[in-house]
Amino acid sequence: MTPRLRSDLSAIPAYVPGRNDPDAIKLASNEVTFGPLPAALEAIAAAAALANRYPDNRSSELADAIAKSLRVDPGRVLVGCGSVALCHDIVQIACDAPSDEVAMAWRSFETYPIATRIAGATPVQVPLTADHVHDLAALTAAITDNTRVVFVCNPNNPTGTALGRGALERFLDAVPASVLVVLDEAYSEYLRVASDDFPDGVELGRTRPNVVVLRTFSKAYGLAGLRVGYAVGDPSVISALSQVHVPFSVSRVAQAAALASLRARDELLARTDSLVAERGRVRSALLAAGYAVPPSQTNFVWLPLGERSAAYATASADAGVLIRAYGADGVRITIGEPRENDAFLAFATAPATAAAFTDRG
Ligand SMILES: *Cc1c(COP(=O)(O)O)cnc(C)c1O
Repeated sequence: MTPRLRSDLSAIPAYVPGRNDPDAIKLASNEVTFGPLPAALEAIAAAAALANRYPDNRSSELADAIAKSLRVDPGRVLVGCGSVALCHDIVQIACDAPSDEVAMAWRSFETYPIATRIAGATPVQVPLTADHVHDLAALTAAITDNTRVVFVCNPNNPTGTALGRGALERFLDAVPASVLVVLDEAYSEYLRVASDDFPDGVELGRTRPNVVVLRTFSKAYGLAGLRVGYAVGDPSVISALSQVHVPFSVSRVAQAAALASLRARDELLARTDSLVAERGRVRSALLAAGYAVPPSQTNFVWLPLGERSAAYATASADAGVLIRAYGADGVRITIGEPRENDAFLAFATAPATAAAFTDRG
């Protein structure tokens, strides 16, 4: 007889990581192609020498540096083991009954429904608009007396689309103050939006205690392998999050690397400009080949290929480029270095591919 486990486990979808193959070009996980900066590598080596000691559980030095860089009180910041862990923690602090609902757009980040189910709560998935953007009217309408959390991924993974500040503000004004709104800004460094409509969750959250912002060192800061993200929000929410935080889950190595990377912020963020230029180049080439490509504010592009998505990802892998298919919705392609993007474009824009996978074909 096997041990008795939760009866609902088989109903919880598994997180599916992007594919990996050392011989292929990997444009499947939204990683950056650069390795850590020399200063980060030095900090990692120095921290590794203290691996016999537990790390600082609150990541104090890093949390205080983040708070300073955002001009918020340190009591408004909590560092976590990647922002994925913080997504789980947020559902844990808000939900304790199967009737508790967590609303989200769909497609959006696959962690949200998984974290909701693991906490024993109920995900409520609201379809994106035909333009692959959050349908804020429908999301507002989906909020009930049972709603405890709303996840808003801005810009959205996997569609790359973004909401502007005006739209977000109107949405936040419509959500009851008792409902926690999570603004997941994993890709905020890639936003290129006019400053008068720039959707900065930290600013929006200053006057709204029900807003919690998630950011990460995994994307523009290039530390996906070390697992550091953070939440910014009302001290009452931050203190609740620290109650459910798994002790010592952010390693000393991770804290040191994130701190060094934060100090080199200008250098790292300058790199996002070349990525944004590549994003424009890739999107233009795909549009010219006949694909529908929503405008991207992230380090990836989305092709809404519907039923053809899985076959497309397989064909791309056969051509040596790993991309990510999402059911019968679409495929997501990370923007990499120019030569990696060229390899994908060679596959995508080849007449045979375009004929099979675009409506032009
Ligand atoms: C990549 C990503 C994250 C970051 O997760 P980490 O756990 O910090 O690596 C968070 N949210 C979204 C939407 C993402 O795409």
